[in-house]
Amino acid sequence: MNVCRTTGLTVEQQERWPFLYSHLSSEIEIPSLNDMDEQFIIEMDKEISRILKHVGDGKAKSRESLTRHLKGLLQRRFQRNAKVEAFGSSVTGLSLGTGDLDLCLSFKKEQPKKVLRKVAGLLREEGMMDIQQIPRAKIPIVKFNDSRSGLDVDISIENRLAIHNSKMLKGYAQDKRVREFILMIKYWASRRGINTAYEGTLSSYAWTLMSIQHLQMTNPPVAPNRQSGNKPNLVEINGESYDISNDSSPFESENKQSLASLLITFFDRFATRWDWNEMVVSIRNGGPLNAEKKRWTHTGPLPLEVVTGQSKNRMEHVMPIEDPFDHEHDLSRIVKAEGAMTIQEEFMRALHLLSEGKSWKEICTPVMEIDEEPEDFFHDLRTQNIDLLRQSLDEMKTEVTQVEEHIQSLVTERQNSKELLDLLRGTLQETRNVKSNRQSILAELRPLSMKVQELRQTRDGINDRIAIPTKRIRQEMVRMFDSLTAEVDVFNTQNLGKEKGDFSYFFELQAMYKASIESNEAHQEFIRLRREQNKEYKALKKTNSKEEDVLNRLIEKNPELKGINLHPKTVKEFQQNANKLQKSINIQYSKKHELRREIGRIEAWIRIAASKGKQRPKRDSKPRTARRQAPAVNINEVRERASTGGSFSLNELDALLSKGGISGIESKEKASTSNQSDRRKAGRKKSTYRVDPRQGRKRGKKQSRK
Ligand code: ATP
Ligand code: MG
Repeated sequence: MNVCRTTGLTVEQQERWPFLYSHLSSEIEIPSLNDMDEQFIIEMDKEISRILKHVGDGKAKSRESLTRHLKGLLQRRFQRNAKVEAFGSSVTGLSLGTGDLDLCLSFKKEQPKKVLRKVAGLLREEGMMDIQQIPRAKIPIVKFNDSRSGLDVDISIENRLAIHNSKMLKGYAQDKRVREFILMIKYWASRRGINTAYEGTLSSYAWTLMSIQHLQMTNPPVAPNRQSGNKPNLVEINGESYDISNDSSPFESENKQSLASLLITFFDRFATRWDWNEMVVSIRNGGPLNAEKKRWTHTGPLPLEVVTGQSKNRMEHVMPIEDPFDHEHDLSRIVKAEGAMTIQEEFMRALHLLSEGKSWKEICTPVMEIDEEPEDFFHDLRTQNIDLLRQSLDEMKTEVTQVEEHIQSLVTERQNSKELLDLLRGTLQETRNVKSNRQSILAELRPLSMKVQELRQTRDGINDRIAIPTKRIRQEMVRMFDSLTAEVDVFNTQNLGKEKGDFSYFFELQAMYKASIESNEAHQEFIRLRREQNKEYKALKKTNSKEEDVLNRLIEKNPELKGINLHPKTVKEFQQNANKLQKSINIQYSKKHELRREIGRIEAWIRIAASKGKQRPKRDSKPRTARRQAPAVNINEVRERASTGGSFSLNELDALLSKGGISGIESKEKASTSNQSDRRKAGRKKSTYRVDPRQGRKRGKKQSRK
């Protein structure tokens, strides 16, 4: 295997992290971003403002309606004990439109047991896809995808701190420049694939905190410290106390730097100047904290040592980022060695590309294929015949009607299935009452029967031994007693042997009498218990007929129950059927949305084409009434307006699109950017400091940084 002797990285790894590798394997000077050309920054700003027009929460409406739907669902399930709140980018205003929907489920009273499983079950019933439970995390989460809107959703349980920190982030994001800056960092991180916490890179949240930290550290600061100088506002969550004080008042910055210039300094700061071994990102401090003082210095191997297999030990505080409210929480805890390498690679890459005058778009080239709107919205329709387009439009409209009918029938079927399900559940509940009644009778009957059995044995056992009735024994006892206690006739005394025999007979009678009484008592108790037993049997019989009555009554009212086996298993089957139907409904809804969208697009194109008279629709051979000629379009003027975000007519839109569209504008701009980049490259000074990527740092050989 071809392994680099200096770094230990395999060829595959060298190709995966080329910028980082080149710095780790040889002493290359890193480019400085101190002398960026002013014109380059102006062009980059223009480019950013164009991108910002496209990013944003295009799915805000879907998020809102899904949030409403889920709130209703969860509150119905947990009888209003549940509280559902949105947090994360859908409330902070920091959504690129590609992120997930974060919801927090908390309880006003007691939290139900096995809540995660219940929520997952409910979501299954709703036909949600890819449901995943993470019960053992500090904050338990259910993740899923709503196929109708395509949104990924995280429902976390009792994630109250996140609600508070989202509130604070919203405060930071109220400033346009801060918001746009964070959006651009999130945009870069997301397109370069380094914002996925569960894959071992940093979360969007962590990137947001790093962005804020940078803006707090510019001179003068662009963002304030919203946690300084506030009176403590302590909340207790799971027995821990947190200060969630946060000043949300507007902040007027004296710093006039543009977004592009702030981005450049961000990369400069975090790619080269930030010493992760000594500095902890801390927005509540307004600047880095000393890692040693915080006891957050890096322990364990370096990421390079892990990826090259030199160590398997755990890394701690690899890129320490403090949570603003939970000060013990390091957001880099989840960063894996490969993730840390990739993040550093991306910093180095951004630094190099910026120094080479590459565009922001190129810096943010997606690492994975993503569905992007083509810049020419009608690109595939331009060459098509309008009549054929009309024809497919009609077909699509028919298909929409069919899909709608299909949805309707599925909805009705599901409704029926659900009604029957409710009915079954109700029936089982009613018969369950009768059944539980029977259970309790049986529970009483069992010991009763045992006692009856016992008494019978006692009685019969005695009777087998003593055949004489009690009354006779008693009479005999009295007679013997009288004889034994009568006055003694001294002239006619019994002999001693006879007297001894009488006494022993008397004692025998006494014992027999006692046993006979016992047998009588056992018999009495036996009779009493038998009566009781009979009563219980009668009650038991009654419950049987009552169950039949309940069933007959229910079947009479709901004939659809006839023939259905009333068993919990049947309920489960009905439930599964309803879930399947819901999934099909969701799929049909997505199909309908897609069709509608496509219909809208084709209709818009037909309108444009018709208004231009370019591809005059050939409906029939009838002579056409003359169309009003579209006004001539000054393409340069339209381009100018497009680049500054102005509005334009359909006619102008088409002219713009057919002349290369927005990309046309861009290519013009690119030309000027690359000229300027060449200019800058030619005149760029070499940096006087060298990169010291922490991944490649050799222990004990750390170079000091500026
Ligand atoms: P996106 O638009 O990409 O979804 P986001 O701004 O919603 O980004 P997420 O990473 O989804 O950011 O996090 C959502 C919220 O969850 C954050 O605003 C924060 O309140 C909370 N959060 C996320 N990760 C953590 C974490 N590791 N520790 C504490 N809170 C977190
Ligand atoms: Mg989110």
